[in-house]
Amino acid sequence: MAVPNSEELARCVEQIDRDRLTKTLCELIEHPSVNPFGEAPRGAEEGERRVAAYLRDRLTALGWTCDVDEYAPGRHNALARLPGASGGRSLMFAGHMDTVETTGYPQALTGVVRDGRVHGRGACDMKAALACYLEVAEVLAERSISLAGDLLIAGVGDEEYRQEGAKALGASGPRADAVIIGEPTELTLCLATKGLAAYDLRVAGVATHGSVPQHGANAILTAARLLGGFEDYQRTLDRRRHPLLGPATVNVGVIEGGTKPNIVPSECRVQFSRRLLPGESPADVPVELAAVLERGTWSIGEAWWTVDAYELPHGHWLAEALRTAARLSGVPDREPHGFPASSDAAPGSGGCARRSHRAA
Ligand SMILES: [Zn+2]
Repeated sequence: MAVPNSEELARCVEQIDRDRLTKTLCELIEHPSVNPFGEAPRGAEEGERRVAAYLRDRLTALGWTCDVDEYAPGRHNALARLPGASGGRSLMFAGHMDTVETTGYPQALTGVVRDGRVHGRGACDMKAALACYLEVAEVLAERSISLAGDLLIAGVGDEEYRQEGAKALGASGPRADAVIIGEPTELTLCLATKGLAAYDLRVAGVATHGSVPQHGANAILTAARLLGGFEDYQRTLDRRRHPLLGPATVNVGVIEGGTKPNIVPSECRVQFSRRLLPGESPADVPVELAAVLERGTWSIGEAWWTVDAYELPHGHWLAEALRTAARLSGVPDREPHGFPASSDAAPGSGGCARRSHRAA
């Protein structure tokens, strides 16, 4: 088996079996893997066990090796490997197996093809990518293609919450020279991803009876005034632009406070998140906000949920390789873009440690 050149590899695109690919995606949807968001999995629908086993079964049948690792109770990663023939660069296709919940989504766990699209929980984000990775393995096997370097397929858990699967996978160091993460990007090449940091803003007031509000301090009204300051903060962020990702952003997502309509509330809690650009630190955000918000009886705690931002180093070989692959595959938009959400690409997520690179 000779190692093919890139043009020969491009011909593999013509061998993609769309019916098989669709069937694979429907089967992945029908193997539920709802993220329990920090809790222990409660029942068969939660956790990634079934999808990890599915990946293992499909890939070992094609001659790959595959390890399924229970990195936390009921939470799994799958890592499969097709050894390279001549010590070339290794490449990993990585994708998260978990999905968000199915509440309020009829037929969430039934892969349905409608108007040429597959519907079901996780169809797009991101079981479609897992299905594509399996189709790559099928085509390589059918054509008896041997690659120069190792090809790995990683199914990881917990991307939708704390990226614990990627952290576990990366804990013992990089396993590939580069990683492609197939998050949904409308088929554009994304060479950078924003990070995330979430915070609590607590506003203190003085409780009193609602008939004499002048004797208290209404924490909700104070919070309402502060929220206007978030718009000022966004305007300062708009001036801080990354060439691929655009500006950093801030979002107020939750506001809680008060107990009864006839009580002046003594506390109001605001949860907000900040999308970070590469190079920004979660520790800087409370300082920046303090400079914009009016002074008062409020405080911002440390970030309680963080995901690092990431960008592929300028001039990295993977960017050019992906552009070539996009050209050979007929992808119309081959310009690099930024991914506005966070993902397993971040080095702090440990997805594939510091040598790893995301480009999807
Ligand atoms: Zn995703």
